[in-house]
Amino acid sequence: MTALQTLTVLGATGSIGRSTLDVVARYPERYRVYALTAFSRVIELSELCLTFNPVYAVVADDASALLLREKLQGGANATEVLVGEAALARVAEEADTVMAAIVGAAGLLPTLAAVKAGRRVLLANKEALVMSGALFMRAVREHGATLLPIDSEHNAIFQCLPPNHAQGLTAVGVDKLLLTASGGPFREFSVEQLQSVTPAQAVKHPNWSMGQKISVDSATLMNKGLEFIEACWLFAARPDQIDVVVHPQSVIHSMVCYADGSVLAQMGQPDMRTPIAHALAWPERIASGVPALNFAQLTALTFEAPDLQRFPCLRLAKEAMTAGGTHPAVLNAANEVAVAAFLAGKLDFLGIARVIEQVLNEIPVSAAEELATILAADAEARQRAHAIVAHYLSKTGEG
Ligand code: NAD
Ligand code: MG
Repeated sequence: MTALQTLTVLGATGSIGRSTLDVVARYPERYRVYALTAFSRVIELSELCLTFNPVYAVVADDASALLLREKLQGGANATEVLVGEAALARVAEEADTVMAAIVGAAGLLPTLAAVKAGRRVLLANKEALVMSGALFMRAVREHGATLLPIDSEHNAIFQCLPPNHAQGLTAVGVDKLLLTASGGPFREFSVEQLQSVTPAQAVKHPNWSMGQKISVDSATLMNKGLEFIEACWLFAARPDQIDVVVHPQSVIHSMVCYADGSVLAQMGQPDMRTPIAHALAWPERIASGVPALNFAQLTALTFEAPDLQRFPCLRLAKEAMTAGGTHPAVLNAANEVAVAAFLAGKLDFLGIARVIEQVLNEIPVSAAEELATILAADAEARQRAHAIVAHYLSKTGEG
């Protein structure tokens, strides 16, 4: 008999949050929703609260709290509404299992809070690990947290590795990790075509349905860059132990190459409920609602090398990982600002990589042992990225 686990979903209204609740709703005997959090979509959060009746709901500000309390009033719902960052950390500390599905740097502190409370942490928020890799992984070890990857590639690699992989990849006979990439919606675009792509085109991913920021990251290949860094930390891999391979069909979600020539792959539909159900139930297996792959209907599976000329963000991420220290946090912050500017029509698509590269060149690498240093690097990178975007805008005469 499986014991009932309490679950906090950080970022419950997002794409991953909703997929998580879709799986959880199938297993009321396994999971009790302890807390749900959201940033701006209060009406959607109120509907989730009415369905899942969590002990707590957390929102960003008092106005959202007021609206949420109003929406929940009068019903049988007993959810208490909390506000702000301290509340996010608190509900992350208090549940048995935490789905870390806030997007971007905003997820770092509550995710770390769950880690430091020794919880079972399901990590979708790759930016948190990219920013603070060494510190984050040390906290996992010191506080006995269980860290399970949700990102489909890392979840695939985790499934293909032997259980004792913490001994070191070489020690368990692993040669390489093969991180697959769909290539995004602009895989076949020339540089000239990339020049004029719009936010609407960029957020339309060919295979996956995701939040806006990660969709743009997939289009620039920064998502693969962030995932490259994420894989280095999760699996204690050196950068030269990870290869990126473009696989446009997104059927294979990543692979592990062993010293004897064996390559193990994890396959499935491009539906995040598979890695979510895997991590929720691990080491058991539960149904996720995802239909099985139908091999008779599969088209050919193809593979190609990524083009770092057209998609420089992947190169920038690899370089930032090799430089180490605060550079991955700087890369991440500059990317968040550049992507937001692109989505707001203030920066063209190719400008995203240019802004990030310039910020990386302007900020020297420091050691990233302390959270304060990482947060300071993040703040400085944001400031510089904003200034560079404003400079471009003034040159093009827009805005
Ligand atoms: P999303 O934009 O759909 O949802 C983001 C969630 O975070 C929302 O609930 C939002 O309310 C919350 N949020 C946003 N800003 C916040 C802030 N400042 N403070 C508190 N909460 C805030 O994003 P998503 O696609 O669900 O992605 C979530 C995370 O999972 C990202 O880190 C992404 O890289 C990762 N991920 C997503 C997918 C996917 O298929 N969507 C796959 C792999 C990894
Ligand atoms: Mg992924």
